[in-house]
Amino acid sequence: MPHYDTLNHYLERLSPQCLSEIRRRLVVTLLRMKQFYRARLLGKYWRVILDGTGLFYFREKHCENCLCETVKDAEGKERRRYYHKVVEAKLVLGENLVISLGTEFVENESEDVKKQDCEFNAAKRLEGRLKKEYPRLPVCVQGDALYAVEPMMRLCRKNGWKYIFTQKEARQAVIGESYAWIKGGGGAAVVKGIGKEQGTGRYANHVEETAGKEETIHIYEYEYRKKQEAEEKVVRFQWLTNIELTKRNLEEMVEAGRGRWKIENEGFNNQKNGLYRIEHLNSREGNAMKNHYLLTQIADILMQVYMAWSPMIKETGQSKKNTSSRLLESFRRQTVTDEDVSYIKRYTTIYLE
Ligand SMILES: [Zn+2]
Repeated sequence: MPHYDTLNHYLERLSPQCLSEIRRRLVVTLLRMKQFYRARLLGKYWRVILDGTGLFYFREKHCENCLCETVKDAEGKERRRYYHKVVEAKLVLGENLVISLGTEFVENESEDVKKQDCEFNAAKRLEGRLKKEYPRLPVCVQGDALYAVEPMMRLCRKNGWKYIFTQKEARQAVIGESYAWIKGGGGAAVVKGIGKEQGTGRYANHVEETAGKEETIHIYEYEYRKKQEAEEKVVRFQWLTNIELTKRNLEEMVEAGRGRWKIENEGFNNQKNGLYRIEHLNSREGNAMKNHYLLTQIADILMQVYMAWSPMIKETGQSKKNTSSRLLESFRRQTVTDEDVSYIKRYTTIYLE
């Protein structure tokens, strides 16, 4: 392995586009494998989940592209905080196999911008790039209520993509009111006894006609009763989509909508607190920072596929950390033979639970 300074020196000069391209090639190979076809929504759409998170925070301005916000410290005193944020598009290949498909850094172009860059705009740039990199991929974009606005829906339509966004009254009030009105008049379809809680699903197609919106918007919801101590509570979720809802597809659509939250939570959590510690600053230099982040995403893809591919690792219950150390050790010690190389071209089966 090169010395750390040498590595950083190299990563300061390498274009992040190069690493991004390596990731694209990896993903394209995986997408061609029939094993993952089962993960597609309604047997057709690859689920792509958009989510943003803060990575690095500084007290002092760190570079020209820093985002800036004013926060209150523990004593209630206001101070400026400089930070870097990223938006990820995660691709769902299986219940426990969710990999990085695309990355966009949220950053200001220069110090004196009038309006700061934000997750929403970065997500729009990311979608543009994904369409270029995967022009024919049937995609269903998922995201939280932040994305549930018409400009995002329009972008999805133009890309020929489907979408599922979380519906919140605060984000789409007119849609919410229109749906309540339709439901009140008995216009929403009902499917009972679905999901693991055997709850109730409801939907109404083309709410945009009632709400006076331009984009196609179907709405669906799921509710179930949950016992909390002595009381019974009703838990409810709502989503917006441009996939036409039917009594047959509702359960799968509900599962997909609910799954997003779990994936988001676990995804960044694992990368922040687990093996990778993506918040650790490996270099203060902006370009190297990006490259370190992209390398982590590539490592995570390899690691997840390796773990899914080798049933023996699951059986021995070896921890992820140990598996990764051993893998690294084998790179260091074991000589690669011609026979090893021949395996690369062989058909490999990946076992999914
Ligand atoms: Zn910075």
